[in-house]
Amino acid sequence: MFEFSDRIKALPPYLFAQIDRKKKEKIAQGYDVIDLGVGDPDMPTPEPIVKAMQKAVEKPEHHRYPSYEGMYSFRKAVADWYKRRFGVDLDPEKEVIALIGSKEGIAHFPLAFVNPGDIVLCPDPAYPVYKIGTIFAGGVPYIMPLREENNFLPDFRSIPKDVLKRAKIVWVNYPNNPTSAVATKEFYKELVDWAKENNLIVASDLAYSEIYFDGYKPPSILEVEGAKEVAIEFHSLSKTYNMTGWRIGFAVGNAKLIEGLGKVKTNVDSGQFQAIQEAAITALSMPEEEVQRIRDVYWERRKTMVEALRKAGLEVVDSKATFYLWVKVPKGYTSAQFVEKLLDEKAIVCTPGSGFGEYGEGYFRISLTVPTQRLLEAAERIKSLII
Ligand SMILES: *Cc1c(COP(=O)(O)O)cnc(C)c1O
Repeated sequence: MFEFSDRIKALPPYLFAQIDRKKKEKIAQGYDVIDLGVGDPDMPTPEPIVKAMQKAVEKPEHHRYPSYEGMYSFRKAVADWYKRRFGVDLDPEKEVIALIGSKEGIAHFPLAFVNPGDIVLCPDPAYPVYKIGTIFAGGVPYIMPLREENNFLPDFRSIPKDVLKRAKIVWVNYPNNPTSAVATKEFYKELVDWAKENNLIVASDLAYSEIYFDGYKPPSILEVEGAKEVAIEFHSLSKTYNMTGWRIGFAVGNAKLIEGLGKVKTNVDSGQFQAIQEAAITALSMPEEEVQRIRDVYWERRKTMVEALRKAGLEVVDSKATFYLWVKVPKGYTSAQFVEKLLDEKAIVCTPGSGFGEYGEGYFRISLTVPTQRLLEAAERIKSLII
């Protein structure tokens, strides 16, 4: 009787539905399933944050509607954090907005700046929300392939002029999900210059800025001089502080871009629960050692798993950031076929590269979100499959 809207019908098929169903079947059959599929930290939220929440939840002033842009104290904590971490100055009043998780902001942002038929430049493979947010706003995604020979950076100079004329936004995400690639400040500088030449908004998704290792430290695009004229950056507490369930993030950057996003949000949500914002202030102000402990765990897992997979004969992309491994599919399989075989025959869940877009074909993604012992067990099983 009812028909889904054209925008829902235009969504790409949900490739993970089949994997989810099979995984549940396997578990029901009693298999010891190792899930390396989801990008969701396995460790709990650090205790100081949980404690701050417990206190905050008792305060009656938090029980009322929050302001859509976020509490001033939260926005101030974000600005202070950016200053400490990146040396970037932000005005908490105009250049910071709280989000109900960064996904919310990423999905809503195009509604503020994209008219039907406008183009949004989206990387591929990528977090699916850039494309979906574009489609929901009536925009048209234009794919920028991320190729290994280009270190998984988009070759934005090769985008045709007629496309650029219709383009409004360019999305970038480094450290990158799913490829684990990183970008330099020089890359951001070129991107900002090019965006200015072409009157484009740069939207940077910095969800993994704090998941770095071994002396490497990812930059923010806002470190580039003049970037604030064209850029908005989306950030999340989810990955840094094991807070995926809490739904708190923020966007920073150009005041007009923040204002536009704010206009959308005023009309669709009423802001995040203030107690959560208060806990998030505690997170952003925590001593660095708390986060370092989390990094140490991922680094240990990464080194162990990369070595085990390489010993098994697999090609793994080198990286000093993110909790993902981007691994070449062995010859003779598509990424979907290989991932299906891993699940069917070895009870391991991974994500096929093609689930992140056509240019993800040929790879699969492993999340380092299980303990080292489980990773080693998974590596053994993978080895026994490909030998
Ligand atoms: C996890 C993730 C996000 C979203 O995180 P939130 O929990 O919504 O804050 C955004 N971008 C990328 C690339 C991610 O992997």
